[in-house]
Amino acid sequence: MMGGFGFEVSFSPDGETQAEALAGRMRQAAAWIDQQVGLPWAPSLFVVGPEDWPRVSMGVPYGIPHVGDDRIVAGLDGGPLWEALLSRCAPHVPAGAWERLTDVYGDPPDLRPFVDLLVVHELGHVTHGESWAGEPAGLWLDELASNVILHGYVEQVEPWWMPSLETLFDVVRDTPRRLWPVRDLDRMADTLDGDWTNYLWFEFGLQQLARRLWHSAGSKAVQGLVELLRGPVRCQEEVLGTIATYDADVALALRRWARA
Ligand SMILES: [Zn+2]
Repeated sequence: MMGGFGFEVSFSPDGETQAEALAGRMRQAAAWIDQQVGLPWAPSLFVVGPEDWPRVSMGVPYGIPHVGDDRIVAGLDGGPLWEALLSRCAPHVPAGAWERLTDVYGDPPDLRPFVDLLVVHELGHVTHGESWAGEPAGLWLDELASNVILHGYVEQVEPWWMPSLETLFDVVRDTPRRLWPVRDLDRMADTLDGDWTNYLWFEFGLQQLARRLWHSAGSKAVQGLVELLRGPVRCQEEVLGTIATYDADVALALRRWARA
């Protein structure tokens, strides 16, 4: 337990420094998100190693930050899934792009600076309820909204982390499409049952579109997407219609990706 943040912070032995760093970011992000769209409540933060992970996480592989019930859960370190993602991509990444990756994350690459930013994305999910659960467009819209929040927060509050945020998703999205068994956006949920590296490929594609939305419409895009998620379930056409008012090209890219 750790005090002074406005929410509870718990951590595994040896996790105090990491917990303090993530809690500090989470407090700043909560203030930023509250200004943008209002943050109804702040979850607790758990920063745990692999031995405590099964007890506090929600069925997600070790090292994937996530939110559920009353809490955000993050790993003490990146964990094997992030290494698996890099191993899968490495043989297919052009030399120049791999150099870009090692310039930003070191050689061999340590993705923790990227993974540590995801606490902001998780907090983004707290801005609305789960009324769209089970809707195909609901999943990607929810992730897109959190990614616009993540991008906007890093650009405005911690801009020196922009290379750590952007490099990984750009490099992974540059790999050949055949590498990823599930590719249609409508089927994104299928990847939750299988190889999570494929799920991350979807997240990173949405992160690229989130960057475009943020640059086109800024806070208006954050507010519009969260408003959609707070309201009644809408069909994909209505969702794309709203997104087109912020950036028509992003709406078109999502439409094509839905059944790519
Ligand atoms: Zn998410």
